[in-house]
Amino acid sequence: MFLKKLCIEPDTEMKYNYGHTGVALVLTLLSVSSSNAEGKKTAKEVVAEVLRRQPLIDAHNDVAMNLREHFSNDLTNVKFDEDLRKQPIWKDLNTSHTDLPRLRSAKFGAVFFSAFVECRTQYRDAVEQTLEQIDVVKRLIKKYDKDLSFSTCVKDAQEAMSKGKIATFIGVEGGHSIQSNLGILRILYELGARYLTLTHNCNNPWADSNWVETKEAKDLLPVEHNGLSNFGLEIVDEMNRLGMMVDLSHTSVLTMKAALARTKAPVIFSHSGAKKIADHQRNVPDDVLELVKKTNSVVMMNFFSGFVRTDGQRATIKDVVDHIEHIRSVAGPDHLGFGGDFDGVDLMPVGLEDVSKYPDLLEALYNTGHWTASDLEKISGGNILRVLGDVEKVSKELQGKEAFQTPLKTEGAKTGGVNITGLITDKFF
Ligand SMILES: [Zn+2]
Repeated sequence: MFLKKLCIEPDTEMKYNYGHTGVALVLTLLSVSSSNAEGKKTAKEVVAEVLRRQPLIDAHNDVAMNLREHFSNDLTNVKFDEDLRKQPIWKDLNTSHTDLPRLRSAKFGAVFFSAFVECRTQYRDAVEQTLEQIDVVKRLIKKYDKDLSFSTCVKDAQEAMSKGKIATFIGVEGGHSIQSNLGILRILYELGARYLTLTHNCNNPWADSNWVETKEAKDLLPVEHNGLSNFGLEIVDEMNRLGMMVDLSHTSVLTMKAALARTKAPVIFSHSGAKKIADHQRNVPDDVLELVKKTNSVVMMNFFSGFVRTDGQRATIKDVVDHIEHIRSVAGPDHLGFGGDFDGVDLMPVGLEDVSKYPDLLEALYNTGHWTASDLEKISGGNILRVLGDVEKVSKELQGKEAFQTPLKTEGAKTGGVNITGLITDKFF
C-alpha cells in the first residue's frame, strides 16, 4: 500500500498561492479601476470572482462520521450526488449539511474529510475504526470520481482544481487513532492522512485535551502531561519529518503551546474559533493566536453554534464574522481559513446552515469593508495551501533523517481508558 509518496516538486515555491495571489492582485487592481468607471461591484460579484481564482477549501468535514453512524459505511444506497435533504435517513439528520450539489454551488475546490473515531475506542479498536473511515472516504471518492479527486499535497489540489474537481484530503481527528505508535502514524500517512489532530475530547498517553480545562472533567480528566509528554513531542517531530500537518483543535492550551514551541513547520487548527469572542475551551486564546502568527500557522474557523456563542443562543453568520474579525485583528489575514465542522455537529448558525452558504459568509466579510478580494482569497483557501506547502518543504528538508525508533508502548495510559462520554456525547464537536 506504499503508493503515495510526497508529491512536492521543486516548483512548489507556493506557486499556487503566491502565484494566484499575485495574479489576483493585478486582476483586483484592474477590476477596481474598471469598476470605478462602471460603478462599484456588488459583494456578490466580488465573491464570485474570488472563488473563481481561489475555490473554497474546508479543513474539517464529518461526512464520513455520518456514513459510519447511519449507513455502516455501506455506500450502496448513498446518493451523494443528489440533494440529501430529500433522501431517506439523511433528510431526518440534523447533522447532515453536505452533498455534492451543495459543495458545487459553493464553488468548493478542496475539502478535508475527517477520519474521526470516538474516544471510547481508545485502547480498543481505534486503529481498526480509523482505517475503516479512511477506506470509506476513499470509496466515496472512487464512486464520485467525476467530482472528487483523492489528494495528498498542494500539487494534487492544484491539478484537481484545474480540472474542475474537488480535491479531497483526509485528516485523522484524534491522537488516540495511532494508539501511541509511531509505526501506525507512518502508515496513516502512507494511506493519505495529511493531518492528525493531536487529541479529541479525551487525553491520550502523550497529550492533554481541551477537556482538562473544564470544571466538569476535573477529576475524571486531570492534566496529565502539562501539554505534551516527551513522546508527544517526538510525534510532532515525526509529523514534521513525514509532512503531516499538526492539528491543535481539541487540544488543551498547554498542548497547543508545547506543539507550537516544538514544530519546525506551521501548524493548523482545523476547526476552532476565538476564545476572546466565545469563552469555550475549544476556541483559541489570544496569546496562542500570537504564536499562530509567529509560526506562520492558520486557524480554520469552526461554525458550530455552541462554540460560536456560549450563551445558549443560536449563533448567526454575524457572530461567525465577529470571530473571524477578532482572529484577524490578532493574527492577521494570512492566518485564517475555514473548518466549518459540517456534518459533525447538530446546530449551525442562522445563515450558515449547510456548505452551500459559504459564499454568503465571504460576502458578509467583504461588507465589513475590511476585506479586499486578495484577503478573501487567502481565507478561502490560499492560506491553508500555503501551510500545507510549507509542511511539505520542511518534510523535504528532513527527509535525510531516520524515522523515529522509539520502542513500542513506552508510555502507558495513566487515565486507564477513561473517556468522558458520560459528560458529553463525544460524537459531536
Ligand atoms: Zn472536532
